[in-house]
Amino acid sequence: MLIGDIDIHPLTDGTFRASPGYFGDHARPEGHDDLFAHDGMAWLPIGCFLVRTGERTILVDAGMGPRMRDDGPRRLLVGGQLLLGLRAVGVRTGDVTDIVCTHLHADHCGWLFDAQARPVFPHAEIWFGAPDWAHFVMGPEAWMFDHIRHGLRTAEAAGTRLRLVAEDTTVAPGVDVTMTPGHLSVIVSSRDRRILLLGDAIVCPVQLDEPTWHSIGDVDPVLARRVRERLFRELEDPDTLGAGAHFPELRFGRVLAAQGRRWLT
Ligand SMILES: [Zn+2]
Repeated sequence: MLIGDIDIHPLTDGTFRASPGYFGDHARPEGHDDLFAHDGMAWLPIGCFLVRTGERTILVDAGMGPRMRDDGPRRLLVGGQLLLGLRAVGVRTGDVTDIVCTHLHADHCGWLFDAQARPVFPHAEIWFGAPDWAHFVMGPEAWMFDHIRHGLRTAEAAGTRLRLVAEDTTVAPGVDVTMTPGHLSVIVSSRDRRILLLGDAIVCPVQLDEPTWHSIGDVDPVLARRVRERLFRELEDPDTLGAGAHFPELRFGRVLAAQGRRWLT
């Protein structure tokens, strides 16, 4: 995908398998056969996006790392493939200049540090929302790997590499981050065209048809639903495409708002 001179390449670190129950106890598969196509389960990616612009090689989200988490039928995550995907497009870990984590759930920051808490991408600045520091790194979030937490604290103590984002900010020319509650979304723009990289603000386009379907990760489901609706409205603009980190096949799409609304890829 080329947006002006900026190249955006989707990569997956592995598989995120979800049952309808992932989206809430009330979620039913009927009418969504294409999503729950494999034995009643959705097989979604653990997505990342490589954004190359001028001198900068930017990774949006850093996968799960070589780890897995099995929550039974609701959710299974298996990571580990990101470095392979990068190598396949000619990018070495030392080439990455910036990593933007849309948030610090374990499936978005898993490759920041290795098991000894050493940086996997030795030259990368790490950008994430300032509120995530208290919640994920110092605070109550149960699902954060210890080596990631340790690596972030060590980087913070050294005063290097971390860019905590407290307001809408430019990462590189044509690459901006905007604060959505609990989240950063990344806006890549050039010559009147825009791409929104949504992280988990919208987990799956099915939430356009099923606005009450939420995600296990939503801290505040009511607020999360309001944010999703705002983002879907932005995606009614024909010059704006979007993709989230777990969209099926990491396909970009937008909202067609002609008769009713539907997701168009
Ligand atoms: Zn996620």
